Amino acid sequence: MSKAQNLFGTLQNFDLGNGRQGAFHSLPQLEKAGVGPVSRLPVSIRLVLESVLRNCDGKRVLEQNVRSLANWKPTGPRTEEIPFVVARIVLQDFTGVPLLVDLAAMRSALGRLGRNPKLIEPLVPVDLVVDHSVQVDYSGTADALGKNLDLEFSRNRERYQFLKWGMQAFETFKVVPPGIGIVHQVNLEYLAKGVLSAPSTINSQPSTLYYPDTLVGTDSHTTMINGLGIVGWGVGGIEAEAGMLGQPVYFLTPDVVGVHLTGALREGVTATDMALTVTQMLRKAKVVGKFVEFFGPGAAALPVVDRATIANMAPEYGATMGFFPIDAECVNYLRATGRSEEHCRIYENYYRAQGLFGIPRRGELQYSVEQELDLATVVPSVAGPKRPQDRIELPNLKREFVAAFTRPVTESGFGRTLEDLSKSFLVSGKAGLHAGGGSQEPVRRRESQAHNTNPQTELEMANNRPTPDLGVVPEAGHGGTIRHGSVLIAAITSCTNTSNPSVMLAAGLLAQKAVERGLQVNPLVKASLAPGSRVVTDYLERTGLQQYFDQLGFNLVGYGCTTCIGNSGPLPTAVDEAVGKYDVIAASVLSGNRNFEARVHQSIKANFLMSPPLVVAFALAGRVDIDLSREPIGKGKGGEDVFLKDIWPTLQEVRDVMQSALKPEVFRKLYRDFAGLNPKWNEIPANQGNVYQWDTSSTYIQEPPFFKTFSLQPGEIREIKGARALGIFGDSVTTDHISPAGSIKTTSPAGKYLVEQGVAVGDFNSYGSRRGNDRVMTRGTFANVRIKNLMAPGTEGGVTRCFATKAGACAPGEQVSIYDAAMAYQKEGTPLVVIAGQEYGTGSSRDWAAKGTALLGVKAVIAQSFERIHRSNLLGMGVLPLQFKEGTSAATLKLDGTETFDVVGLGQGLKPQQDLTLRFTRANGQVETIPVTCRIDTPIEIDYYQHGGILPYVLRQLVGAN
Ligand code: SF4
Repeated sequence: MSKAQNLFGTLQNFDLGNGRQGAFHSLPQLEKAGVGPVSRLPVSIRLVLESVLRNCDGKRVLEQNVRSLANWKPTGPRTEEIPFVVARIVLQDFTGVPLLVDLAAMRSALGRLGRNPKLIEPLVPVDLVVDHSVQVDYSGTADALGKNLDLEFSRNRERYQFLKWGMQAFETFKVVPPGIGIVHQVNLEYLAKGVLSAPSTINSQPSTLYYPDTLVGTDSHTTMINGLGIVGWGVGGIEAEAGMLGQPVYFLTPDVVGVHLTGALREGVTATDMALTVTQMLRKAKVVGKFVEFFGPGAAALPVVDRATIANMAPEYGATMGFFPIDAECVNYLRATGRSEEHCRIYENYYRAQGLFGIPRRGELQYSVEQELDLATVVPSVAGPKRPQDRIELPNLKREFVAAFTRPVTESGFGRTLEDLSKSFLVSGKAGLHAGGGSQEPVRRRESQAHNTNPQTELEMANNRPTPDLGVVPEAGHGGTIRHGSVLIAAITSCTNTSNPSVMLAAGLLAQKAVERGLQVNPLVKASLAPGSRVVTDYLERTGLQQYFDQLGFNLVGYGCTTCIGNSGPLPTAVDEAVGKYDVIAASVLSGNRNFEARVHQSIKANFLMSPPLVVAFALAGRVDIDLSREPIGKGKGGEDVFLKDIWPTLQEVRDVMQSALKPEVFRKLYRDFAGLNPKWNEIPANQGNVYQWDTSSTYIQEPPFFKTFSLQPGEIREIKGARALGIFGDSVTTDHISPAGSIKTTSPAGKYLVEQGVAVGDFNSYGSRRGNDRVMTRGTFANVRIKNLMAPGTEGGVTRCFATKAGACAPGEQVSIYDAAMAYQKEGTPLVVIAGQEYGTGSSRDWAAKGTALLGVKAVIAQSFERIHRSNLLGMGVLPLQFKEGTSAATLKLDGTETFDVVGLGQGLKPQQDLTLRFTRANGQVETIPVTCRIDTPIEIDYYQHGGILPYVLRQLVGAN
């Protein structure tokens, strides 16, 4: 039991509503004590301030930190870092397993040093939800769910066994087993409490201290919880580990962008459309690294589930958070999802006592800048084909697809011709493939004739071209005709939308109307339904809508991330081969939040994000080059044209079925007994003991090398000399390019390694599931099949040119895999750098993108700009992030990878964000120097860097203190 401090007399009582009092650190009192104008601060800042105040101990958190944040200035300089101690941590299994591996490795390291391994113990509650491992191997059948679950358990048994070891080895580490739901939806519906309490000693008396629910999660979309007024965001696994072990999460004092919402969504417009609109608007407003806080009457009128959909997409608009303040809607949601009456009362009373209850109106609070959105202006939208912020109004999708089809690859297009667009390709389900490439369907020939007689421009002709009834024409088995723009994957997926009953029920109603009109989904479209919790199934069954999903092939495939994370499973072989052979620009439609290249499926290049009802609509249409506002979606029972408007549910119809969606007793029942819901989990045996017994033959779990030679003394900061470039990349290289999560190619270094270990190709599983094995992950670094290394022009995938000639490993400039090159450089002791463009490391928080980079021997990444979490992860692994000055890039410097590099100015006395010198020597011996910004942003990061990363730092602190 800890002793509560009473800084500035802020330790006060509030009414719990049951005749008793609870203790809290009062923000209004902080203002009364003259510390700062607290009541004018954005709500999100005040919640962080409460944590800083409560955790002020004069060591990790100083009184000065409290004063500074209480005096947050809307447009002040952003140089001070905030030490934020979070109340809890959530993990998903792809990031959680490697994190547990690191904790286990730290315990092993302490054991080797003769210290007590139990020193490594999470100090705050940690919940891991196993959601990322299920793949859509089976779909379109009633038994798909069971079969996918069986496969999931057989593929991941070792990992799950390891998780069970973690459950018994660590006291505050809990696991929600597979088949229950998706981490952020489970967090919203069950884990989040809104207000937390802990036993404490006040005036020598035992008492209970109440404080806001705050968290970080090892998944970018942790921000979904901001929809419930909870401060939280995604951090790298490395930062989360430090947070677990008592380190504050440090971040620079942020700007807070206020978004004033007015109006309400119109008929026919969904929460997903709203989220895509907000994403595009805020991307343009450049909110990267900032808090976004929604306020105004439009925000107040939104239910929590709609707020959560917008909040979930904060990583897509680049913000640290997309926060909605606390109000009566939050209480309603907590009550509707089965939280107790008493808890709801305490929650409301706590935030009222803090002066934090109610959505602020314009002028009440100060924001760094304000944006305005009238929700009545939102229109049905999709986003794609490659980035979530590229919103397209629904009627324009056909035109935009054609435009992207013919745009150069360098401008995010597909670099094809209009002539290509008119080709179609026959897929045979039985006898392999029949090329239809040269023999267009009759309807296409008619188009060609039209081109000859019509005086429009080529693009206009393409935009207005007549289109056949279906983009996918069925034949027996998996045969049919596909063409560019054919929909091959249609997935109702992602917590972004599955946590929102309004869009899930709208999809169900649309499916019902489609079935009733006699519409069908072509069997070549791989349709799937993967809710984020079993509650969804409960209300779809209760409303009778699941049967219509089933009839259209949207059978339940699992409770997990599935297509959203790229676990879309295989396409039918003949289809996949046709796509590959004819290089078809096929499409996926999904209710996810990310559509970067190769994220959804390696064979699908055009990926469109949209609401669940639109996913069903495009599955019915079978293609994306269609204007659903004008063209029929298909033929009805009587051969009549059926349009989208004919089957689109009204707001009233959605509201009517919503009545039965949220039942508190259902939430209570489904979240009461995880083990009972998943007997397969119970069958898995758990290893016992505080220290993990590493099995050196495992291909899933291996002791990583990070602490194998750990000593109690940190090293020194030294200059980097004679480094070679391992890769030179363009803009927007994502963490998925750097460390893919999806399938492992047999011919890749990781695939070859697994084969050498005796793993059958069918058992490769995914990179994401093998993050507990550094040998696989290091080989998989930069192995995304779509990554383009400018050092090896014309190639795709993890290829580079190698100059490690000293050990005779390569011929000068030989083209080899990035992994092989890195190993050759390691042999001859040559340090490495990576050079990149804008937004390096964008996408999901993925610590293996940093760990793999470090293990390949990369000492510095020099980029034009960095994504927030990836920069911090690189630093956390001891890799130096350096930033080119504005206007400088690999292209302007004409770097081609034949140079050697020195980083000059590194040493003792290094300051955050100081300038360093990058010196490079060209192949002809010419030496040039340029200034670069050292992106070690905060003083604590200097310490991390000196210690070789955040984990060695924390481990040395822990050992030193005990
Ligand atoms: S469903 Fe998508 S956004 Fe949600 S946790 Fe899974 S991968 Fe992340």
